Amino acid sequence: MIESRNAIVTGSTRGIGEAIARALATDGCNVMMNGFGDADEIERKRASIEADTGATVKFHGADLSDENQLDDLTSSAVDAFGSVDILVNNAVIRYFHDIENFDRKDWNHALAVNVTAPFLLSQNVLPGMRAQGWGRIVNFSSVLGLAARSGRADYVTSKTAMLGLTRAVAAETRSEKNITCNALCPGSVLTPNTEMKIAELADETGLSADEAKDEYLRRRGQTTGYIEPARVAGLVTFLCQDAASDITGAAIPIDRGRSATWLDGAGE
Ligand code: NAD
Repeated sequence: MIESRNAIVTGSTRGIGEAIARALATDGCNVMMNGFGDADEIERKRASIEADTGATVKFHGADLSDENQLDDLTSSAVDAFGSVDILVNNAVIRYFHDIENFDRKDWNHALAVNVTAPFLLSQNVLPGMRAQGWGRIVNFSSVLGLAARSGRADYVTSKTAMLGLTRAVAAETRSEKNITCNALCPGSVLTPNTEMKIAELADETGLSADEAKDEYLRRRGQTTGYIEPARVAGLVTFLCQDAASDITGAAIPIDRGRSATWLDGAGE
């Protein structure tokens, strides 16, 4: 259990972020959820996590590409809970363009949400963490922070930058024995976004839903099945425990061995 810690989880209205909000609340943390979506559906999710766990769970709809809203997210969490002890930079926006066709507006938006927002939120919460001598920042990278796929320049760049930001925060907090900052590098996780891409693949190829699900993984070299969001959330809650205080500046793959075996089967 983590207990009595206060967390912000960006992009927690669905997918991995929602699983993290639930897991942290289950472990006794108060959670500020954030993200986009249908207001009634978000409220249902928030209320259900709160009712199931007994934690205080609030929601702030800050658009992370807007610096003022992002500052308001931080101050609302401090007002609600008294402190921000855990920051999970999970939100993401993804574009799918080749570099020559990448609209500059999309590029700037992706970098604002995926990189600048985590930097500014870290800047906002670190003074409080230092003052109390305890803090956890968990950043989301990806296997695409370790190697590239074509057509994903914004994502590959953002996710690689998150490894740099993680190390930079770890470097500046290394003398504080209970403040850590780590990055997770998931492989393919079965989230609404992944399901949408599988459905697109089925449409493009004429494969059945089940065949497209397998083909999606095969094309990514993740041959032994999808990762469940709850497993990724479990790694986040582990990093937030006191027992994980020696782990900082790490880039931790949770990818069923995908990044460790890029070259397997690539020939001699
Ligand atoms: P998702 O697309 O399902 O959810 C993204 C969340 O971010 C949503 O809640 C959305 O509303 C929010 N969001 C988007 N733009 C925002 C903005 N401007 N302001 C506030 N919130 C905003 O994401 P996911 O698939 O659950 O992935 C979560 C994290 O894990 C991401 O950082 C992603 O890069 C990483 N990851 C996911 C996978 C995967 O297979 N799903 C693999 C590797 C890494």
